[in-house]
Amino acid sequence: MHSSPRIAIYPGTFDPITNGHIDIIQRAAPIFDRVVVILAINSSKQPLFDLAERMDMVRASIGGLPNVEVASFGGLVVNYAKEIGASVIIRGLRAISDFEYEFQIALMNREQFPGVDTVFLMPAERYTYLSSSLVKEISRHGGNVENFVPSAVLESLQRKFRRNQQV
Ligand code: ADP
Repeated sequence: MHSSPRIAIYPGTFDPITNGHIDIIQRAAPIFDRVVVILAINSSKQPLFDLAERMDMVRASIGGLPNVEVASFGGLVVNYAKEIGASVIIRGLRAISDFEYEFQIALMNREQFPGVDTVFLMPAERYTYLSSSLVKEISRHGGNVENFVPSAVLESLQRKFRRNQQV
């Protein structure tokens, strides 16, 4: 039987992408035909890295996964899902503290577009306390984050904070 490809989108700010995000992407890749990592253009989070920098870092970090792509989106996640025929939104769940917010967003997204469901994946335990904001904070103060981010991200962080580290 011929069925249409199962496309999943993994939306986020990815400022920057961490090994926790990569862990989720690696778990999603074998489950779906296509996984599209989509970066928010208008993040309310005031990102440290601009969109092009964030996209480059994602691209450099997912090289070994042929069915994973990167894109960006401006409006509602569900509209983007509809546009490319995705039936699943992937989100990572680290701890109970993520749950309430994610639950709310997932139900609201389904309300907006009943054709899409959210699938939650849990990362390896060592990434459950990892976040992009923690990585930026440690790096800004000259700490070592090499166990938590892909090498392309490590280089970008070092470049961004070089001045701080020399003083
Ligand atoms: P957003 O601004 O949408 O929260 P993020 O880039 O912070 O974007 O996160 C995108 C998704 O990745 C979210 O579902 C978040 O819970 C998940 N995530 C973030 N860090 C980790 C991690 N260390 N392990 C697993 N999932 C994570």
